[in-house]
Amino acid sequence: MTELNSNSVDVLVIGGGNAALCAALVAREAGASVLLLEAAPREWRGGNSAHTRNLRCMHDAPQDVLTGAYPEQEFWEDLLKVTGGITDEKLARLAIRESSRCRDWMRKHGVNFQPSLSGTLHLSRTNAFFMGGGKALVNAYYRSAEALGVQVRYNAPVERLELENGEFRAAWVGTERIAARACVMAAGGFESNREWLREAWGQNADGEWPADNFAIRGTRFNRGVLLKFMIDAGADSIGDPSQSHCVAIDARAPQYDGGICTRIDCVSLGIVVNRNAERFYDEGEDFWPKRYAIWGRLVAQQPGQIGFSVIDAKANGRFMPPVFPGETANTLEELARKLGLDEATFVRTVREYNAACRIGRFDHTVLDDCHTEGLAPAKTHWALPIDKPPFRGYALRPGITFTYLGLKVNEAAAVHFSGVPSANLFVAGEMMAGNVLGKGYTAGVGMTIGTAFGRIAGAHAAAAALKKGVEHAAA
Ligand SMILES: Cc1cc2nc3c(=O)[nH]c(=O)nc-3n(C[C@H](O)[C@H](O)[C@H](O)COP(=O)(O)OP(=O)(O)OC[C@H]3O[C@@H](n4cnc5c(N)ncnc54)[C@H](O)[C@@H]3O)c2cc1C
Repeated sequence: MTELNSNSVDVLVIGGGNAALCAALVAREAGASVLLLEAAPREWRGGNSAHTRNLRCMHDAPQDVLTGAYPEQEFWEDLLKVTGGITDEKLARLAIRESSRCRDWMRKHGVNFQPSLSGTLHLSRTNAFFMGGGKALVNAYYRSAEALGVQVRYNAPVERLELENGEFRAAWVGTERIAARACVMAAGGFESNREWLREAWGQNADGEWPADNFAIRGTRFNRGVLLKFMIDAGADSIGDPSQSHCVAIDARAPQYDGGICTRIDCVSLGIVVNRNAERFYDEGEDFWPKRYAIWGRLVAQQPGQIGFSVIDAKANGRFMPPVFPGETANTLEELARKLGLDEATFVRTVREYNAACRIGRFDHTVLDDCHTEGLAPAKTHWALPIDKPPFRGYALRPGITFTYLGLKVNEAAAVHFSGVPSANLFVAGEMMAGNVLGKGYTAGVGMTIGTAFGRIAGAHAAAAALKKGVEHAAA
């Protein structure tokens, strides 16, 4: 057995994505010595955070790359709406307020911002985009952390912790024991643990295991090892294991790390049918950023866990085109054949939809008045007939972004055991996002939660290790 710097590390950070890096940087700034353990090799470092593009930010007036205002109350109401009330208001508001004051700190550590590009995501007011995406963000944070003296170790998956009366003593990587005075866990969700996903989603009435057909949009290293260990060790958990951010993505996506380029963003501009060539949900329910995260689950509930997004030539130029071209055809019959759908049923579905369209003033930037009448399910906005060739279709599969099951925290990001907060064990990011996001999603809030609670956890871990007050503004 080897022991690394026994009792010389103040703060141990487990994980290597945004939440872990924010915690490590803040703990180091507070004067603590910090060691960060990343399960992935260096070239795959950064977890799901490396795939991100933006951060949802509260602001009361236009700010550099953000237009208009996005006040606390509106952010909170958006969160309330998407979670259906399954959120902790105190923690949610804490994250929201933090989002209004973290960007100067982010800039200080090398993160640059750019305005959103036009497309279907309508995010220029609410979300600040990272120049170079999440990969540039994590690279900047690693550079800054190393410059400040944070020790970083790759290929270091933590398997278990040593706990004593709810306090952290050491972490184990294989046979190596690593002690520290305080610890921040930021090791992501369990989305890359196929067996756990299978268990959470179960078997459907047709005998299928839906999780077998899921692609994982991000890192293969978020296997939930630490989450499972902590739950088994008696830490209070929060959230439903079957809840996850699950998007409909290109069915040709790789099993891991497909990232954002596998997303299909034309759902609200056309119709979506299942393997039986039948529609199953209102494609025009709300703006795409507020709805894209429900489509993975909707597709997961269809036979064979597959759907087909169908548009016509009128949709061209109105959405961010996917990287890989879809199937294209000059007739509906030909498109059905190319997508492997029953021709007669598909043509009937499209014709019934076309006949039900009540065309008003099409405007994809507002909830317009183009809708269907007498059709079930209805399409409530942006309903234009699919009648202008060439027609295009994309096969869709559920793509899991991250899971919501996590550990319960308080405003100090402390892990709880039977309602009692730990004095030196903290958690941030996906591992506790379920406190704020019980279900649903609104674009950019994953990084808001990770940045806010990463910084809070880092500040409290440093204070616990150095036995002094908390320096972080929000803490
Ligand atoms: C394709 C994609 C696009 C996204 N786009 C956005 C976006 O634009 N805006 C947004 O807000 N959110 C977005 N998200 C969600 C966002 O990625 C997460 O909410 C956020 O990155 C979570 O940060 P984290 O640090 O908790 O987890 P991660 O960034 O996933 O980091 C977890 C880290 O823990 C490490 N790890 C796992 N297990 C262990 C272990 N046992 N020991 C040591 N290390 C371990 C992993 O290797 C990884 O480095 C996106 C996600 C994906 C997949």
